[in-house]
Amino acid sequence: MLATGPSAISLVTADELLYDEAIEFYQQLGFIINAEWNTQEVQLSLSAHANGSLRETTLVLFGVGQNNDASIRLRYASTGVPGDVSRKQVKHMRSARDTMDWRAVESCQIIVVDEIDVELFKDMLTQRIPPTEDCKEMYVVDPLGNLVAFTVQKMISNTRKGASGATTPGYLTTVPSREDLREYARASTGGSEAQGPRKRIGVLTSGGDAPGMNAAVRSVVRSGINQNCDVYAINEGYSGLIKGGDMIHKMSWDDVRGYLSIGGTLIGTARCMEFRERAGRLQACYNMIERGIDALIVIGGDGSLTGADTFRDEWPGLIKELLDTKRIDEKQYKAHQHLNISGMVGSIDNDMAMTDHTIGAYSSLSRICTNISWVSATAESHSRAFVVEVMGRHCGWLALMASIACRADYVFLPEMPPTANEWVGKMQSVIERHRKGGRRSTLVVVAEGAIDSELNRISPEMVKDALVEIGLDTRVTTLGHVQRGGSPVAFDRLLATLQGAEAVRCVLESTPETPSEIIGIRLNKIIRVPLQESVAATKRVAEAISKKDFQLARSLRDSDFNEVLENYLSISSADITNKDHLKAAKPMRIGIIAVGAPAGGMNAAISTAACYCLVRGHTPLAILNSWSGLARHESIKELDWMSADRMATLGGCEIGCNRSLPDVDFGMIAYHLSKHDIDGLMIIGGFEAYKSLQMLENARNIFPAFRIPMVCLPATISNNVPGTDLSLGCDTCLNSLTTYCDIVKQSASSTRRRAFVVEVQGGNSGFIAANTALITGAHACYVPEKGIQLEQLTMDIRHLRECFRADQGRQRAGRLIILNEKASRGFTTQNIVSIYSNESEGAFDVREAVPGHIQQGGLPSPLDQIRGSRLAVRCIKFLEEMPCQWSRETRSDKSTSACVIGVVEAKVKLTPIKYLWEYETDETLRRSNRMSWYPVLLMANVMTGRPVIDEADQFPLDQIEQACVT
Ligand code: ATP
Repeated sequence: MLATGPSAISLVTADELLYDEAIEFYQQLGFIINAEWNTQEVQLSLSAHANGSLRETTLVLFGVGQNNDASIRLRYASTGVPGDVSRKQVKHMRSARDTMDWRAVESCQIIVVDEIDVELFKDMLTQRIPPTEDCKEMYVVDPLGNLVAFTVQKMISNTRKGASGATTPGYLTTVPSREDLREYARASTGGSEAQGPRKRIGVLTSGGDAPGMNAAVRSVVRSGINQNCDVYAINEGYSGLIKGGDMIHKMSWDDVRGYLSIGGTLIGTARCMEFRERAGRLQACYNMIERGIDALIVIGGDGSLTGADTFRDEWPGLIKELLDTKRIDEKQYKAHQHLNISGMVGSIDNDMAMTDHTIGAYSSLSRICTNISWVSATAESHSRAFVVEVMGRHCGWLALMASIACRADYVFLPEMPPTANEWVGKMQSVIERHRKGGRRSTLVVVAEGAIDSELNRISPEMVKDALVEIGLDTRVTTLGHVQRGGSPVAFDRLLATLQGAEAVRCVLESTPETPSEIIGIRLNKIIRVPLQESVAATKRVAEAISKKDFQLARSLRDSDFNEVLENYLSISSADITNKDHLKAAKPMRIGIIAVGAPAGGMNAAISTAACYCLVRGHTPLAILNSWSGLARHESIKELDWMSADRMATLGGCEIGCNRSLPDVDFGMIAYHLSKHDIDGLMIIGGFEAYKSLQMLENARNIFPAFRIPMVCLPATISNNVPGTDLSLGCDTCLNSLTTYCDIVKQSASSTRRRAFVVEVQGGNSGFIAANTALITGAHACYVPEKGIQLEQLTMDIRHLRECFRADQGRQRAGRLIILNEKASRGFTTQNIVSIYSNESEGAFDVREAVPGHIQQGGLPSPLDQIRGSRLAVRCIKFLEEMPCQWSRETRSDKSTSACVIGVVEAKVKLTPIKYLWEYETDETLRRSNRMSWYPVLLMANVMTGRPVIDEADQFPLDQIEQACVT
């Protein structure tokens, strides 16, 4: 067992026997007596004497890293706790072991360790969390009656104060180490105290532009400045690097103000032939050295990143040549021995291997889906067919995801070409089936690189001709460059910002030995990927396609791609008109219920779940208007293909939802579930849906009707459901807030000098507030987890005043303060507006802005739709796999048949509700006690240079530190 965070515990006893027992006790746990103190006896006795001790020992548990040791200072002094009090306490803890949750004990000492060796705790008075051999927390009572927790989690799952832990990624974030957090905190409190010479980092955008590139540049500039670096923007990609001069210019903090919301790239991009030649790269090298730049961050596609890697490989030869030709001197040569590079993939195509998403892809997808929804309206009116061609070159990601989000009838992808000479007939029969099934309009999506199995291009016109053949009035729409443009969506702003900060960290950590890396993302976790491997894998896709090895091409796409492709095909190509085809080996009757408030993506998930049930031969039954609908009106309806299909792309919740819980009438609910032979239940919604699952699971003892497999799919804009880092609806909500805040900021452009206090929803969870702050560049953000401290408020107001004064009206847009609706019990939004107003000293005026129900979003975002569909299929698969029969005897084993599905630490995971309820739920505050999104708040502060009262008070650090240092 090694400590992973510093702790310093001081214990004093007035009983010498217990003092000796305590030393032995801690030694058994791996602590060793601090040799330094023991050999320096004079010091020891002096110290002991000085603080009135009769004896004193310091024990140390060595740490994993530097300064991570945990120490315990034991003192035997007359002023200490009397022996009988300690013994009484031990007795009390022993008797309460099985009835009391030790996590709720306020005075617990906490030590963070790398692992817990349960053997060490044998024969001790302990409680394990969870109560298994591989527990995450071990609570132990020492001979003095103190409760000490050993935890492998950065934040323990204690139940007091709704404690939280920044251990896993949030909506989208990396998992910073404690050191990272400290570094950020230090940076945000001034950012200039880092040691060493100032590094110079160059940043450029290259290749095709993509929405979010500006956000990436902003993040690099501000993270770089925070890390004590000078950041240089290089205009027009590699061309600017070769031209030098004004094309390379130092960026200040203010230069990137307003970058977040602007599409394209403000520092310019280009395709540069000269950089492909060594001579061009030699000149680029010279220009960099002349400016003292020794690190380069490239934002572009695989071509740009390959160029960067070649540049880095050649660097030693290039500088040698510059020295030999006397273009640089010895000193410059020595100072620039190595080029550090890192890359971010900015591309709408999402064609880079080894990363799930590229910057710009979701913005482009959003544009495509919006355009298709417009086209669909006219298609529906005239009962027409539309063939829509979308971009993506050799990658079918955009086409596939648009097809899922827009429920296209058919899609042509380069990775899955249809058989030559057969595709026309196949497509016609699928579309005729859909028409027969009740569809009034037809949508076929054709990827730019669509081909048949013989590599012949499939053009939109060819598809149109095939549709005309079956009598459909067909039009072709080529979306073209509208797909590239516009303001980035929330996801791209977030992705670009987090990746930008990571890219800066990456170049600063890089050594000549480390391979060049690009910053990627897996599900919702920021990762680093070796550049060469990623580029090679990307190229292998195109090669595999050209060699007709389409299976290999697909396998090189991300895991999401293949899973959703399989789901899409199984649903869209099923023979829905022939019921015999849809018979399951073990048909089930699956109930689908929505509980809580509506959230974007709910309909997509319900629709996909129902369609998938039908494809598998099951019967989907929608329970209308939540538990009250079932208990009071027996509102239950079998879903057929068309009724499920119709709701797929809509916002809100078509089957109706409210906040009623099963206790509205347990008996009636059980009765109706039995009456309708429901043998699997999918519950979609927020905290009430989660709570419903817990209540039903708990009531299995009494009601046999609940002894069926059940799954909860979290869908709520508050993102407060334990068991997932990300709920459905959050992305839709953040997109609405992005648009809202952009408009609000813009509205101040004529008056200037205006700040807005934007009140956002989220209940007791600060997730939406923190993410909104990051993606809108808000000046301050107040969340319930932190409350509003007067000192911080004062500091925020002063900072805002200074910003307005320094700016002198140059920046037209308004500035934002994001306030969660429950951030403080003492201050209302109106109070905050008044305080800011009062204290502005005429530097700015303040307005309140409350988006209210706008936050639920209109149409769900493609991300929510796609994720909803994907998770819904997983839910049905889970229900199919779980045994239907539940027996009283094996009850404990069956807790795995009631699970919450979610995204946890970059994986889709099903976690038993029993576990989550016990270990991760703060029932009073209706949220998870794992606040994985916390680093986002921290990053939001860094990005706007928000001063903080102190490290410990501002960031998750305080909770981490509180947990570790006593
Ligand atoms: P997109 O995906 O939008 O096309 P990209 O980065 O792949 O972006 P490219 O045109 O392939 O776009 O590359 C952009 C620039 O990167 C090129 O104009 C060239 O300057 C440089 N570049 C590309 N490939 C190389 C290479 N192999 N060696 C050196 N430089 C390269």
